[in-house]
Amino acid sequence: MKKIALVLITLIISVIFNHAYSQNKCNIYLTFDDGPLNGSENINDIILKEKIKISVFMVGEHIIKNKQMDTYAKYYDQNPYIDEYNHSFTHANDHYEEFYNNVKKSVNDILYNQTLLKLPYKIVRLPGRNMWRLDGKSKNDVANGIQTADQLAKLGYKVFGWDLEWQHHANDGTPIQSVSEMSKSIGTLCHSGNTFTKNNVVVLDS
Ligand SMILES: [Zn+2]
Repeated sequence: MKKIALVLITLIISVIFNHAYSQNKCNIYLTFDDGPLNGSENINDIILKEKIKISVFMVGEHIIKNKQMDTYAKYYDQNPYIDEYNHSFTHANDHYEEFYNNVKKSVNDILYNQTLLKLPYKIVRLPGRNMWRLDGKSKNDVANGIQTADQLAKLGYKVFGWDLEWQHHANDGTPIQSVSEMSKSIGTLCHSGNTFTKNNVVVLDS
């Protein structure tokens, strides 16, 4: 994540350059999951410098368990270009099947995170799932988790997935796709009609 944050600035400039002259408007949403983590401080610095809005989906347990992460969360709180949303309290402890099999428990985990972090908007990204409940439309990547997403939608939540993921190598955190590859993919997706919302591309920096 740290290294990805350092090349983020290049992507932002590249995306803006490539789309500034395109005829049809395309909205690009840069989203970051699982924060705060090591590297969040770099994301915060770059965003303050570039003055570009991003969305971060927060995991409450990271803040509770680590004082440094609590400090990074406060950076986000004070950054006017960052909106914080819900990504659950425990991140399912990375056991997604079990988490979503217990619908009540998974929903409560997300509601608890909302209260704990005092998140102002009912906007959530489900841990480990690319599911959408937005504007009366829905989309699921797998079956396990559907009931949790439906339940949250019933409670008034907008559930956000993503259209394109910028992945990194697990061993050293370096990005898998280059900046130019990401920029090209975003450009192609923009007008492909294959995104959840037409002319919008939601990019996940995982
Ligand atoms: Zn996540």
